[in-house]
Amino acid sequence: MTSSDQAMEALPMYIGGEWVRTAVRQTVELPYDGSPVGACYAADAGVVAGAIEGARRGAKEMRRLANFERADLLARMTEIVKRDLAEFANLICRETGKPVREARMEAGRALQTMIASAEVARNFRGEAIPIDGAPVGKGRMAMTVREPLGVIGAITPFNMPFNLMMHKVGPALAAGNAIIHKPASATPLSALRFARAVEEAGAPAGAYNIVTGAGSVAGSALVDSPHVAMITFTGSREVGLGIRAQAGLKRVTLELGGNSALVIEPDADLDTAVARSVIGGFAHSGQVCISVQRIYVHDSIAGEFLDKFAAATGELRIGHPFEEATDISSLITEAEARRVESWIDEAKRQGARLVRGGDRNRATVEPTILADTPRSVRISCQEVFGPVVVVNRYQNLEQAIALVNDSVYGLQAGIFTRDLERAFRAAREFEVGGVIVNDVPMFRADHMPYGGVKESGTGREGPKYAAEEMSEMKLICWKV
Ligand code: NAP
Repeated sequence: MTSSDQAMEALPMYIGGEWVRTAVRQTVELPYDGSPVGACYAADAGVVAGAIEGARRGAKEMRRLANFERADLLARMTEIVKRDLAEFANLICRETGKPVREARMEAGRALQTMIASAEVARNFRGEAIPIDGAPVGKGRMAMTVREPLGVIGAITPFNMPFNLMMHKVGPALAAGNAIIHKPASATPLSALRFARAVEEAGAPAGAYNIVTGAGSVAGSALVDSPHVAMITFTGSREVGLGIRAQAGLKRVTLELGGNSALVIEPDADLDTAVARSVIGGFAHSGQVCISVQRIYVHDSIAGEFLDKFAAATGELRIGHPFEEATDISSLITEAEARRVESWIDEAKRQGARLVRGGDRNRATVEPTILADTPRSVRISCQEVFGPVVVVNRYQNLEQAIALVNDSVYGLQAGIFTRDLERAFRAAREFEVGGVIVNDVPMFRADHMPYGGVKESGTGREGPKYAAEEMSEMKLICWKV
């Protein structure tokens, strides 16, 4: 441990309204160069058990709050986060190593997620049921109400630590639950800092709890507990499968990986498609679940697209994440960068053409474009989660749709075309949770329904949709 590391104050966990420290301290490193940027503590199973007890008490308080009280609570949290937004952006940048401009964007999006969650809380409701639509219902009235589940366990990944936690915390509180959050070990700082906003906002003790430490210990203990009513997980397919197998009858939503595809038709606005593909493929070095990984371009414009795409990608500036000018910094670890490099090498060995990039320096991988890549290599069919885009040609739309659907994943897909009929055909036939027309599949507004089909997961996020999943529908029927 270095002296600067020793001087760095470790951020405590927040459990049942108390600040909790353990004997095991963990350093958080800047992925770009390994320098220490923060610290936290590791929870063992006993600490998690305490968090579950705290959350159970919190859940009792939360379910007593009226819609307007939960909405006001979320609005107070939103104001505090807004006031301290620069600090949150700074923490996101340090823990993820994403370029500072992208960290600011994430902080701003988290704010939008909170604003949407407060609106959901204020309007949270069931519906009137026309029970007399059948003879048996004559002389009766019916309605549904939505009741909180109790304690929600939330497990989040490293790549968008603050906004993705907000996609769980906001809806959970909006629906009247308490939540225990387990952030990724690499990126706990913004979430731990958020606990101070929760305290300042005057949330009931135990409404928001955060435990840090290994997923296999702290995360697994949440999945195992009979007192945790639901697990909301965002992360890899492999860990998601394990959680699903372990959770038994517990409600589980899984927001997993993808290898999103984009189709570019001959009538597309090519310059817009190029500019958006650069952002869609290389933002946060491709460590986005809806990053553009596969681009299918119509044969007639493929050459022009590739030239322009390669040229625009070449203008991205690689550098330190703290520098304003930086577009591309590091992956989350050097091991991940080595894995991505090995996938590029495999594709090249199997006949792919390297259009640009391909080099690695420690944890940083150059933005890389491959063309004519065989279907069988990992970079074509698995999730790369790195700055690599594969560009292939197609002859007709039917073939393009088949190529998009030739994936175990199905999160989002995009198509650039000015032809309405073709756009709608693709929209109906793409096997994904969301279709983006005339933009890249990386487009996401935080209040929209969002989630995958196939092995990209189950369930939908977006505060309105997540709050529904985090609540139970109850029917009330009476004779009049
Ligand atoms: P990960 O390795 O699956 O980790 C995600 C979370 O699960 C972390 O908090 C991790 O804790 C925890 N975990 C690990 N093992 C566990 C276990 N046995 N039981 C319970 N929890 C456990 O994913 P990642 O590398 O952080 O994130 C990248 C992945 O997330 C990619 O596949 C990406 O596509 C996906 N993702 C999906 C979406 C979406 O909305 N669909 C959004 C963003 C990212 P530790 O960190 O302590 O191991």
